[in-house]
Order: sequence, then C-alpha cells, then structure tokens
Amino acid sequence: MATVTPMMEQYLRIKADYEDAFLFFRLGDFYELFYDDAKKAAKELEITLTARGKGDAGIPMCGVPHHASELYISQLIEKGYKVAVCEQTEDPAQAKGVVRREVVQIITPGTVMEGRAVGEKENNYLLSITPFVGGEYGLAAADMTTGEILVTTIADFTDLLSEMTGFRPREVILPTSFSEKEKEELRNRLRVTLSFEDHTEPVPEGLPLVEGLSDGKIKATCFQLISYLKRTTKRSLDHLQAAQFYLPQEFMTMDVHSKRNLELVETLREKKKQGSLLWVLDQTGTAMGGRMLKQWIERPLLNAQTIEQRHELVGKLFDDFFARETLQEQLQGVYDLERLSGRVAFGNVNGRDLIQLKKSLEKVPAIFETVASLKSRYGKALMKDVGDCEDLRELLEASIEENCPISITDGGLIKEGYSEQLDEYRDAMKNGKAWIAALEKQEKEATGIRSLKVGFNKVFGYYIEVTKPNLPQLPEGRYERKQTLSNAERFITEELKEKETLILEAEEKSEKLEYELFMKIREQVKPFIRPLQQLANVISTFDVLQSFAEVAERNQYVKPDLQTAGDVVIRDARHPVVEKMIDEGIYISNDIVLNEDRELLLITGPNMAGKSTYMRQLALISIMAQVGCYIPASEAKLLVFDQIFTRIGAADDLAQGQSTFMVEMLETKHAVSKATRNSLILLDEIGRGTSTYDGMSLAQAIIEYIHDEIGAKTLFSTHYHELTTLEAALPRLKNVHVSAKEENGNVVFLHKVIDGAADRSYGIYVAELADLPKKLISRAKTILAKFEQDQSDMEDYKTKRAASGEEADLKKAEASFFPSKKNDEPEQLTLFEEEVIAAKKEVSSKTRDYEEKVLAELSSANLLHMSPIEAIQMLDKLQRKLKR
Ligand code: ADP
Repeated sequence: MATVTPMMEQYLRIKADYEDAFLFFRLGDFYELFYDDAKKAAKELEITLTARGKGDAGIPMCGVPHHASELYISQLIEKGYKVAVCEQTEDPAQAKGVVRREVVQIITPGTVMEGRAVGEKENNYLLSITPFVGGEYGLAAADMTTGEILVTTIADFTDLLSEMTGFRPREVILPTSFSEKEKEELRNRLRVTLSFEDHTEPVPEGLPLVEGLSDGKIKATCFQLISYLKRTTKRSLDHLQAAQFYLPQEFMTMDVHSKRNLELVETLREKKKQGSLLWVLDQTGTAMGGRMLKQWIERPLLNAQTIEQRHELVGKLFDDFFARETLQEQLQGVYDLERLSGRVAFGNVNGRDLIQLKKSLEKVPAIFETVASLKSRYGKALMKDVGDCEDLRELLEASIEENCPISITDGGLIKEGYSEQLDEYRDAMKNGKAWIAALEKQEKEATGIRSLKVGFNKVFGYYIEVTKPNLPQLPEGRYERKQTLSNAERFITEELKEKETLILEAEEKSEKLEYELFMKIREQVKPFIRPLQQLANVISTFDVLQSFAEVAERNQYVKPDLQTAGDVVIRDARHPVVEKMIDEGIYISNDIVLNEDRELLLITGPNMAGKSTYMRQLALISIMAQVGCYIPASEAKLLVFDQIFTRIGAADDLAQGQSTFMVEMLETKHAVSKATRNSLILLDEIGRGTSTYDGMSLAQAIIEYIHDEIGAKTLFSTHYHELTTLEAALPRLKNVHVSAKEENGNVVFLHKVIDGAADRSYGIYVAELADLPKKLISRAKTILAKFEQDQSDMEDYKTKRAASGEEADLKKAEASFFPSKKNDEPEQLTLFEEEVIAAKKEVSSKTRDYEEKVLAELSSANLLHMSPIEAIQMLDKLQRKLKR
C-alpha cells in the first residue's frame, strides 16, 4: 500500500478492529468514512463520494456533519448494518501530533436505542444463541430499549428457528464456531444481522442478571450476550432486568410457517400490520401496551387459570363503559416508561424525557383508582406489588423545568428554588441584565440621542451603539471606542465591562452547575429503574386488556368458555380480520363443532367458497381466546390448544430455494410428528403440487395417520372428492362442505359450511367468473364432460367385469382409460388433452415393446459362458436399448 499520512495510519489501525462495521471517523465537525466504507456508504446514504488530497491522494471518502449523524446512522442500522463511532478523545488544540481517537460505541440493529430504526410499538430484540453438547441450544432474548431479558433452552435447531422467529429479532449473536450451514439458514430464514462473541465466562455486570437462573449452561448464553453488549455499547447496562427463564411449552407452540400463514402480526405478502390480527386487536393507547399486545399474540397462553384472569378483567372493562373510557383517557397521557428508564440507565436521557416521565407518573394514581373501581380480582392483584413511584415524581416536580430544552448543556433545565447556588447565579444574571436595560434609558436621556441602544454579540460582548449621524452629539470621552461599523460606532464603558464580566461569569457558572445538577438528578432516578419497569408492565397490561374490551364491544365479541379437554363448540363463528375487510353485514358466520365423533373435518367445496377462511377462523379464534381476548362468535366452548399447525395457502419459500411441494411436505411432517391430542391441525389442499393420484394417496394417508395415530382436532380441506368416501371408513372423520348454488349458469357462494360432501368442483365456473375467454371455458366444459363420461364408462366396465369375475383384465382397461395414472404424470389440464392422451398411449406401448425384448434377451443370456467384460458389455447394450 502506498504510504499514507499518520492520521490515515491511525484510521487503518482502528478500522482493522471493526471490519464488519462502518467506521464513522470524527474529523472536526464531520464524521468521515474512507475506502470501501466510503464507497458503500455513499451508495446507501446517497451522499457524494470524494477523495482525499495531498498525502492521502486518491483515497475514497465521504462524510456527514456530526450534528446530523443520528439520521444517517439510523438509515444504516435500519438496513441491517453496524456503525462504529470513533471520536476525538483529546482536545485538538492540546494534541501533539495526531489527535487521539477511540471508538466510543458500536451501534448495531439489536443495540440501537433510538431513532427511526426503533419502532414505537415494536420490541427490538437481540438474541444470543449458544449450542450445548447434545444438540440443545441456549437462547437469550434482550430488548435494549426496555431492558427485558428472556432465556430458555431448546431441544433442536428446528424448534430454535421457530422460537427465534417469534421474537422477530434484528440481530443474533453466535459463537464464531457456530455451524456454517446453520448460520446460512439463520441468515435466510430470519434475515438478520449476525454478530459473533466467544466470551461466555462470567462478567461482573452480568452476575446480578443471572442470579435467578439455576441452569449453569444458560448462564453462559447470558454472559455471551452481556459480553457482546459491553463490547459494543460501552455504556452502563444498569437498566437490564434480571433474566427471566421461560419454557416455550408454557405457551402455545406455533411454527414459523403457521405464524406467518395466519397473519398474526403482519400480512403474508405485503408485511403490513393492516390486515393482520394485531391490526384488529390493537386499540392500545400507549407504545408499551402496543408492544405487549404484539408479544401476547405471538405467545398465546396454555394455563387456563391465567387466561381466565385476563378474561376477568376484560369482562369488567367490557361491562363498565365509563371506567373504560376514563382509563383510555388516562393512558393517553402515559409516555413510554420502559424506554424512558432505559435511556436513564444508558445515559442519554434529556430534560424533556424526565418531564415525560413526571407527566406519566402524575397519571398513575388516577389509573390505579380507575382500575380499583372495577373491583377486579386480577386488577387488584396486579396493583398489589407495584408502587406508584411518588418519590420520583416529587423529585422531578421539584427539579426539572417544565419547558426545558432538549440540550442538557445550555441551561434552562433546572427549576427555580431547587438549588440556592443556581438561584444566586441567576439573580446575578437577572440583575446585570436589568442594569443594562436601565443603562440604555439613562444614556439616551443624558446624551439626547434617541436612537442610542445597548446591544450584545458573542464576539464583542455588550456595547453601546450610536449611529454615525448622531456621533457629533456625543460628548467627547464619554465612552471608550470599541468597533466601527459602516453606519455606526460601538462603545463600551468601564462599568459596562464589569457588569458584562459578572453576567457572563454567572451565565457560564449557572450552565455548568445546571449540567452537574442534571447529572445528579439522573443518578437519583437510577434506583427507580426497576420499580418503573414493574409499573410499566402493570400499566401495559391494563392497556392491552382495555384494548381487548374495546374491540370486544365494537365487534360484538363474546367471552369464550375454555376447557383443558373436551369439545369445541363455536356458534356463529366469524373470521376477525376478513369480517373487517369486507363490506359490513356480508360476512357469513358459521358453527364449528369438533367432538369425539367429529375430530377431523374434511372440507370440500368450490374454490373461493371460503374453505381456508373457515379453517383460519378457528385458529385465530383459539389464539384470541388464549391471549385473553373475547372472540367473534355468539357463543363458544373452546379447548386450550397446546399447538397449532397450519399448512394454508402458498408460502413464499420459493425464494429460499425450496419448492412449494417440498415446503408442504416439511410442514406436514412437522405437524404429524409434533401434534398431540390437544393440538389443532389445519391442512389446506394438501397434495396439490404433484400428480393427482400421487397427491390423493398422500392426502388420504395423512388423514388416516392423523385419525388413527394422533387424534388431534383437524380441519382438512381438499379438492379430491374421492376422499369424501373416507367418512365411511374413519369413524371420527366427518365431511362438511362450503355451499354454493348455481343461478342462471353462475355460481353464487353462500359461504355456509354444512355437513356432508360437496357434489362438484365448480372450478370452471370460477374460471368463468374470472372472465377467462369464452372459447376456452366452453372447451373446458367439453373436456370435463368427456372425463366424466369416461369415468362413468369405467365404473360400468368395472361393475360388469367384477360381476363376471374377470378381475385380471381390469388393470389393462383402467390403463387405457386413465393413462396418466399408470405413468404417474402430473395432472395438467390442457386444451389438447385428447391428443396428449393418444400420444402418451403410443409412447407407452413402444416402451413396453422394448422392455419385453430386453427381458427376453436377458433371460436367454448364458452367463456361465461369458467373461466379466462380456457380461458388462451385454448389460450396457441392454441399458442403452431401454434408454432410447
Ligand atoms: P377457498 O379456500 O375455499 O378457496 P377462501 O377461504 O380463500 O376460499 O375465501 C375466498 C374469499 O371469500 C375470501 O377472501 C372472502 O372474501 C370470502 N369469504 C370467505 N368466507 C366468507 C364468509 N364466511 N363470509 C363472507 N365472505 C367470505
């Protein structure tokens, strides 16, 4: 490398330690980026790429002003990058040689505390993963903005992936030795930033956080997390709460695909909140409540008692409209207590944050009073163990100025009366300024110059200004000349200078003192971090439950009756999201009954009739019930489901290199291997991605397996009408269908689910509705008629042959009616079906000729008279014949 200046040498030295981050290198008022960082940042941030001159000529560089850096850093973080902020750590004026510089913080997607990258109603999870001997994994999930840490151990990588998805992490920390294949899968599946940390030994900061954990292994996962945080944030981690161990089994399990398919918190395709279950249920008034709601939806409960507690408070809030409305108003005034306390610990809290904290605390007693008025057992229990942080409110009330600025160094932060010393400085400033104001009046009178004024600027301080035309009126020697302007002269006097010194000194001292006082107040707030976090948790819970009560009333939901075993009986069930998306009054409600005699419902009906809506609505209703919400139905008895498995709609896994059919099979495997009697399985049109008979056989085998081996409550929709005959063979399977009727040659979907199998597919009618060309539709009808004719001919033939006992010929006959069955070709309905069938028949009869010849040759070959070479030559010849 060409020689570079000492400063660039310093840059390269520092950069070497932060290969995976953009190095923001402080140079005066700018952060500069060099080399590849500069090229990449210029592109990502759309800023100009330049080059350094002189000694470092040609080195690519770009820069951002330091006061605007937050915005640029946020942009990079949002895109999943990391940023290392390198500051000047000595005064450039004092520096000998190159100014000393150090990286003071590394900002990463999982550790960012503020800015655009942190959504208000979103948690920002950073996960730490450690593989343990025996294939287990430790998982720690931390949200730096709220201080929460959750930990658990997980049996295998597939479950780990599912659990990780639930957190929607921005960044994952791994040991460098983590398997390459699994790293790749994490990148693809979770689309997260991966970071590495090998330190898993105890660190002092981490000790209080792991105190409550009994498992030594999982402590290592926590230390890996803390070591990484220490290394990157280089700040206090005081706000991190003690790690809480949870068992994934305490919550309803849903795998990655099910969560995505059910569109719990965002839609499948557009990844938008609108159109998701969260969107319907979110009437929370605070950001903390919004985050909690999202967490709850991702983790429905299994403990019927805890669910019942939530339902109890929702019920009280539902019944008492006035209390609910009051609570909603009170919550409006509560700011993000969790994130505010995070900022206190992190050291980036400002005066306005503390005012927000105070204002929020002012609301607490009233909120508690409102909840107490509901006489809810759960409400009372929640409030029992938390304080209202009144001492903190008093401190902030006494100390922080209501209209303080954002900056914490320019004064104006501390209230009058809080510090005597500060009040003295302020008096001095005030008196000095009053004296100056009086001076102007006094001098105007003394000199008779009406335009005379006293002014101030940062460079020259206070001055008396007299315009040029008035100068002759000024008595000689009255003032001392200080500055000449084009149309005026500026003067000072001894006394003015003295006062100026007094004022400026007082100002400087007071700003300094204010800063010191602010820092002390911040320290005094720190012990309140834990109580604040507990308070935040209780207030968020109230918020989510009032949101449930609100949506329950608006949408006419009812309280479900939850059992740990038994039947599911839902009267007039509705799909919570679809009913909101379609015009009011049109949604058709349906009963869902699953009991001992009908564990598995086989759903048939035309496309677009509402089969998958019916299936999804059961899953969503169960999830709603198990998070503590009321449900869209007129009456419901529900089962607490331990797991929900879905294979619904097309998953967008193609981008990840898996065929839809493969994904379908993987998801089915997951369902049949993990489901229990208490699980819910939803399978939509399984077997579509392969040939008819192949798919149908698989579908039937899956149904039989679930019916005989698992006994899970299952909804299975299919377009294979042939499967409906299973009802006779499987006692706990029942056929239901979504009804449709024909009106003047058009299909009208009734969206009503009734017992019994559908009588036809209606596919062509749906195609007609979709306005496919008339010619094409009429051709499809002809082909269908022919197939139906063939089928009935075949049935007749079978019956006759069976009657005459000539079973042996059946296979041959079947092959000529359904050549595709024999060759196992994918079903493709083409307009030239007949020609294709004929061509296939021809090809298959030629193949049979070859096969017969080859077999004849093989059986007549005299192996004993052949050398090994000759035998191989013969095999080669025969093989080539077969391949022709
Ligand atoms: P399928 O799975 O049978 O192809 P879907 O469940 O995807 O059909 O439903 C198709 C559309 O029909 C839905 O997008 C919705 O607009 C409408 N729909 C479904 N069920 C109902 C219902 N119960 N009431 C009103 N409209 C419905």
